[in-house]
Amino acid sequence: MMIALVFAVVVATVSVALFFLEWRKRRVYSKYMDKIAVSIGEETGAPPLYIYERLRKKLGELEQRVIETERERRNVFTILNNITDPIIIVRGDGVVTFSNIAGRDVTRPGVEGRKVYEVVENYHLLEMFEKALQTGEIQSGDISLVVNGETRYYDAKVVPIKLDQESERYIIVLHDTTKEKQLDKLRREFISNVSHELRTPLTSIHGYAEALLDDDLSNKDLVRRFLGIIESESARMTRLINDLLDLEKLESGEAKFNFTIVDMCQVIERVLSIVEPIADDYGVEVRWTCEGEKFVYGDFDRLVQLVLNLVDNAVKYTSLKESGEKSVTVRCFEKDDKVVFEVSDTGPGIPEEAQRRLFERFYRVDKARSRKVGGTGLGLSIVKTIAEKHNAKIEFESKLGQGTTFRVIFNKPQVKEEQDDAAV
Ligand code: ADP
Repeated sequence: MMIALVFAVVVATVSVALFFLEWRKRRVYSKYMDKIAVSIGEETGAPPLYIYERLRKKLGELEQRVIETERERRNVFTILNNITDPIIIVRGDGVVTFSNIAGRDVTRPGVEGRKVYEVVENYHLLEMFEKALQTGEIQSGDISLVVNGETRYYDAKVVPIKLDQESERYIIVLHDTTKEKQLDKLRREFISNVSHELRTPLTSIHGYAEALLDDDLSNKDLVRRFLGIIESESARMTRLINDLLDLEKLESGEAKFNFTIVDMCQVIERVLSIVEPIADDYGVEVRWTCEGEKFVYGDFDRLVQLVLNLVDNAVKYTSLKESGEKSVTVRCFEKDDKVVFEVSDTGPGIPEEAQRRLFERFYRVDKARSRKVGGTGLGLSIVKTIAEKHNAKIEFESKLGQGTTFRVIFNKPQVKEEQDDAAV
């Protein structure tokens, strides 16, 4: 009896203890469940299975978001790398954390992870970085860097960015302004050249007109001579302005080209009818050969202009030779699949150091010589532009004191029928 009682008490105690333990476990379990529910934005007391489902969904979403963030991050780097302006990101302690591909081209190798002072070779840019570091303000300025042995100009900016309380970044952005700088230089040179070219004849016209006004005009020969100078100087100005306008039209693409099949022999004949009387006056003999028909695809009037400029130069500059043979030979012939127009003279020739600049606007080997023959310094620029429009190549060779040969090499027309049509 006693044993049974003791056994019952033990069983009851163990049961109570087990019940209590189970109750505690459940409480702890539901407390944590509630915590999880709250952390994922659900109501407390929701069934565990429901919370498990919600939790699984949330984890899936998070995983997706991490993948997307990583993809975004990679996209941002791809975009930065494809920007053609150099971009370099520097930490406050001067260490470069990122450089895009263009940035690597303008810095020393191994830019990332190195101090900006070690990889950027421009004192002014480093000074801008220092100033941005001290003031926390955007710095900008013009700098130049040597890239692949060539000087390039940049509009540089250093932009400080605060990421959070402790960290900040300095973004160095360089915008290449080399082209603008070169265009600006060309524009300034052009304006100064045009002003100079116009001022010379204007000064002359003004001077002779003033002299006439001050004179009693009794010496008819003097008056005639001065008026002659005024007339030729104003004609020079007109020629200059016409050449300028023409060149501008050609280069801007405004000039209309009427492309057809053209016989270069006809072009040469037309030019010679203009040049031969002048050549006679200058005492220069002009010979020419153009057998049969030499077809090219081009604009007849523009080809006349091209040939005229070259033959006219040859005649005029040869006429300035003090002694020896004064002749110009014009030829047109076929070579392989090309049509070659050639004009050679026995003139003064062009010095080697001047040959490189011959086709530049206003370039003259000898200013006085060009002036003497009424040159504008634009003839060869016009020739070059017209040749380019015809996909033709220009070659020349010249020996000082012996003469010059210019060659314009055209492609033969491709379309057989067009050639036949033109020949009719
Ligand atoms: P310009 O109007 O002065 O003749 P161009 O552009 O036609 O200008 O020619 C540029 C320069 O090239 C000339 O000033 C001249 O010095 C030189 N030149 C051109 N053709 C010849 C030539 N056949 N012989 C010698 N010099 C030439």
